[in-house]
Amino acid sequence: MSAAQSSVRRRLAENLKRVRDNVQSACARARRDPTDVRIVAVTKTVEVDIIRQVLEHGLVDIGESRGQQLNQRAAMLHEFVTRRQRLGGAAEQSPARPSWHMVGHLQRNKVRMIVPWVHMVHSVDSLRLAEELQTHAESAGRDVDILLQVNTSGERSKSGVAVGAVSHIAEHIAPLARLKVRGLMAMAPLEATQSAVRLCFDRLREVFEDMRSEGVVGREFDQLSMGMSNDYEVAVEAGATIIRLGHALFEGVGDAAVTIAADANP
Ligand SMILES: *Cc1c(COP(=O)(O)O)cnc(C)c1O
Repeated sequence: MSAAQSSVRRRLAENLKRVRDNVQSACARARRDPTDVRIVAVTKTVEVDIIRQVLEHGLVDIGESRGQQLNQRAAMLHEFVTRRQRLGGAAEQSPARPSWHMVGHLQRNKVRMIVPWVHMVHSVDSLRLAEELQTHAESAGRDVDILLQVNTSGERSKSGVAVGAVSHIAEHIAPLARLKVRGLMAMAPLEATQSAVRLCFDRLREVFEDMRSEGVVGREFDQLSMGMSNDYEVAVEAGATIIRLGHALFEGVGDAAVTIAADANP
């Protein structure tokens, strides 16, 4: 292994340790169990080789924000894991298979390409999108977990369902047999103060609790996806069960030149 490769490996391990420590501290402050917080590694800025290393660290939840990229990378990783499993003797442990998360805005014409791979779609923001997912999930014979993305910041430009419409949409999605509505997702406004971020996450948590007590959703509605690199500790304090992290994990790791060199030298 080259010096550049091992420094990338070290950096990723350090970043991951820092994130896990911070999650643990936030959980301690909120009297929560750290095993109730799942980290989705959002890999949109890094090369495929880095995703392999992430898997080796035991992080199997991988997020992408574009349909095409999710499709391509899922196919590549699938081939890689399958080959390793075929070749791997007892000496070599085969890498875990990733669970793919679609975290970014999803266009209906990209649904078909992600359905064969995707485990959870975080960004369902309309009934029409849900119906499209249902159609393709049915023909692929797969079940797909979904979250409803909620606009809790009230910014007009932000995507997501308005707070007042979430229950209504959830009721209409409930009969779609291939979709499991697992919870809610939100993004805090960009460049907001800590207290504005906190308000946004607390609001999502309230909507989530209300929907559960109204009985519009089932028992499996138990996930809150909120918190990114800049605000995940606040999100964990506010009750996040899924945090979506990009640069907190990949700072100093995502240098394309280094990873391409690493790829060329297996
Ligand atoms: C890119 C992205 C993330 C991760 O962003 P960081 O700030 O790098 O942690 C999380 N969620 C969504 C929807 C994203 O597009």
